[in-house]
Amino acid sequence: MGNNIQSIRGMHDFAPAEAQTMRMLETKLIRVLNSYAYQEIRTPVVEKLDLFKRSIGEVTDIVEKEMYAFEDRGGDWLALRPEGTASTVRAGIQNGWLHNQQPRYWYLGPYFRRERPQKGRYRQFHQLGVETFGLAGPDIDAELILISQRFWQVLGLPRHCLQLQLNSLGDADARARHRHDLVDFLSQHETGLDEDARKRLHTNPLRVLDSKNPQVQDITAQAPVLLDYLGEQEQEHFAALQASLDTLHISYQINPRLVRGLDYYNRTVFEWVSTELGAQGTVCAGGRYDQLVEQMGGRATPAAGFAVGLERLHSLAEKNLLTEIKVIDIYLVALGDNAVAYTMELAEQIRTELPNLAIQMNCGGGSIKSQMKRADRCGARLALIAGDDEVAQQQITIKDLLGDQPQRTVSKDALVELLKVEN
Ligand code: ATP
Ligand code: MG
Repeated sequence: MGNNIQSIRGMHDFAPAEAQTMRMLETKLIRVLNSYAYQEIRTPVVEKLDLFKRSIGEVTDIVEKEMYAFEDRGGDWLALRPEGTASTVRAGIQNGWLHNQQPRYWYLGPYFRRERPQKGRYRQFHQLGVETFGLAGPDIDAELILISQRFWQVLGLPRHCLQLQLNSLGDADARARHRHDLVDFLSQHETGLDEDARKRLHTNPLRVLDSKNPQVQDITAQAPVLLDYLGEQEQEHFAALQASLDTLHISYQINPRLVRGLDYYNRTVFEWVSTELGAQGTVCAGGRYDQLVEQMGGRATPAAGFAVGLERLHSLAEKNLLTEIKVIDIYLVALGDNAVAYTMELAEQIRTELPNLAIQMNCGGGSIKSQMKRADRCGARLALIAGDDEVAQQQITIKDLLGDQPQRTVSKDALVELLKVEN
């Protein structure tokens, strides 16, 4: 039918296998975060539009072009969240979360950007984000990088799969001096810039370095780099981080062109980039944002964090995760009305005693032949079969569907113990 309603372009359904591998991926990452003693927070999907304008910056791709913003019925301007740092800072200031014992947080959920949909770039995508507050030193930068590296490890990604790129954006003073020279440089090459870059030349010149247009990139390849403008303290911070990474045997490349697409970053910025994902190669990105809390109305608080794009990470790790997929362990075959309630009750007992087993009940009746066919097709390891005889004797028949164990009939009470031994 031609007029069926379809999902929105760039917003996707997850089929069961995809949802299951995504859930496995998330579970593995959350386990890592627990091992570093980070705590989960949850914030709303919708926020006031101004929150993102003020934090991400008015002259950025996200705010200028990618936001899903709308006026609600009360006349307030709201937006679907395009990223998680702004909301975390807002919630942190509002709820007093920034100055307690352990301001190290993580969150996971859907984010929204109205970008041109393509592989690795969606209009609804998922991020796992990590944010820390009150820690100004390079030690926390190193910890964030360690966490992200452990993410790749627990997913079984080979080391060469993702490369760490590192840069320092310095502090306000360094950026002001750099901005001056950058504007000079870009003005000399203005004719080669595209419309976007020309517009930003005077509003937000650093964003020109972030352009995805190859022609603009050719020009900016020669532009002054922020690294040459760092003050002494910023240099020390960056050097100390590199020394830590060396000690921890984490390899990295310094990329002086890495500026990130959001305005709030300063000092350390980093990205983990894969060559296996085509143009959308950045899987994880983050850095420090020491001024943002104050800028948003809170007490001055240094901060650092990162976010992982889960769809991109999933496409790198999917093959490994698929090998762990398991859907059904046991299929219950019930012949006759008495057997249905009997096997259902038995299944409840097994679920109580062995909650890790996935047990599927045959529903809708059918002959032994058709039920066994379903059992075979679903991939279960065992079929448990009950008919009138089994019900009368309080027994159950076990058929091994994958191995070559002979079929056996055991007492109902012995079953759970037997399954426990085998699992
Ligand atoms: P890109 O340069 O690829 O547009 P970005 O700098 O806009 O990325 P961030 O805001 O840093 O991205 O978001 C962190 C991560 O979230 C990205 O590295 C990426 O993995 C993922 N991500 C960002 N936008 C999208 C999107 N539209 N679809 C899927 N994943 C995305
Ligand atoms: Mg982007």
